[in-house]
Amino acid sequence: MAVNKSVIGTSIIPLAGRGLFLTELVYAGELVFNVPRPWLCVVDGKNLRKTCDECFAYNGVLGTNNPEKTEPFLECKCKVVYYCSETCKANAWKTHHKIECAAYRKIAQTEPEINSLNPQFERRFRLITRLFALKKMGTIPEEDFKLFFDLAQGEEATDAWIEFTIERLYATGLTHMSPSKLRRWIQAVGNNDCEIDTPRILTTEELEGDEPYAKKVEAISLGACVDPYYSMINHSCMPNSYWVFNGRELQVRAERDMVAGEEVTISYIPRGAYVDRTISLASWGIHCTCQRCSKGVIEPTGQLREAIKEALDEQKWKYIRPTAQCRILRTLISDVWCDGNTWGAWPMRLLLVKLHDSLRAADQEWGVLQVLLRLRYSVDDQERPKAFLCERVQTLRLLVSFVGSVYHGRCGSGAGNLVVWIKSLYPYYRRLLLYEVQMCYGEDSALAKWELKRNMEEEGVEQGDEAEEKEIFRRSITLLLTWASKHESLSTS
Ligand SMILES: [Zn+2]
Ligand SMILES: [Zn+2]
Ligand SMILES: [Zn+2]
Repeated sequence: MAVNKSVIGTSIIPLAGRGLFLTELVYAGELVFNVPRPWLCVVDGKNLRKTCDECFAYNGVLGTNNPEKTEPFLECKCKVVYYCSETCKANAWKTHHKIECAAYRKIAQTEPEINSLNPQFERRFRLITRLFALKKMGTIPEEDFKLFFDLAQGEEATDAWIEFTIERLYATGLTHMSPSKLRRWIQAVGNNDCEIDTPRILTTEELEGDEPYAKKVEAISLGACVDPYYSMINHSCMPNSYWVFNGRELQVRAERDMVAGEEVTISYIPRGAYVDRTISLASWGIHCTCQRCSKGVIEPTGQLREAIKEALDEQKWKYIRPTAQCRILRTLISDVWCDGNTWGAWPMRLLLVKLHDSLRAADQEWGVLQVLLRLRYSVDDQERPKAFLCERVQTLRLLVSFVGSVYHGRCGSGAGNLVVWIKSLYPYYRRLLLYEVQMCYGEDSALAKWELKRNMEEEGVEQGDEAEEKEIFRRSITLLLTWASKHESLSTS
């Protein structure tokens, strides 16, 4: 059933045209609106074999709406798309794939590896092919089809990939639309697509070796979706909403409490430094005047910024030993602090997440705990905009995983009182994690159901005396945070 607590209106953001406005009060974590089954979604090349093209089940792994499925997926005769079941295959065939399949097979005559090209190019080509197929099969009503083409209002853009996409589209025989119209439309697809971000629960084989506190869930992007209503949401670097996918369903949820009449905003880009945001947003023709941008630069600049960029560069970073990585990151964090920035400033979160990974690789388990506490209790609270709910949940999940491994005796032996405090936190943290996952992804999401099941299976987690437990939590966390801030080099505050 569709939920919609927003209407279209004239945006209050300069030059933004139209926007979406709340019709009623919405609390943090609640749905602003959902699109139960957006018409136009495609899976990216690298995920095709592992993802059902119809329902987005991810090779039988939990985290999608087909949790029990484990066999290899069914390959279509075009060898481009895969399905989790005969039902999904039949549905797709009926609504669009009959036409799409013929188009893919035609292309395969000249390009046998039709999925090995540049992913951004592949995505545009597949989105447009899908849209024409939906129209030809009569699945998409004419007026809905028009909404998609209304998105193509910008300048006529061109580059080598756009020309190649057009050439390919003509080769499929799907359209005779003029190149000029197609150029505009291809550009519009690139400007309006949103990532199909979804949390995925790792299989036992995928879990990281025999590490005591293993990562069990990761966020991945399966592909892209274009939805005309969703496209109406304007950008802010201090957004009040975010989007997630629950299986095939697109959801826009409130990042914080919002009042009726407020304009709904999301961030089109990952949060980053002012300079980087300005550059990224320019590709949408946006000169952002949000609360955050109007403050200008409130983050490290000059040489320090360059040094941070270097440390965040995966390519250069992978040749440095983990212990050396830890040293570099700790120095940077302390330099950013001494430069007059707070824990909430860019790039504190990025540096600490990176330090967490390096400490894990260097087997410094107490350092890992310190970083996680710092992220949860300093960075995520001070950051503006606040860390998106999904990111806060990610921090909490890592913390719970660490606390759980101490609780179950897999790490931290011989640390006396520290271990006692940590152990007493576990039942509370597990329940807190379930609560935050429900807030972030909705109670009916596959992830929330999985967390609930895990809590029910773990003794002592499901039930507890709330008042007594809160008191124990308060005492233990105070002791732990005091320990973490006293403990050597992170103690810059
Ligand atoms: Zn399926
Ligand atoms: Zn096919
Ligand atoms: Zn901004």
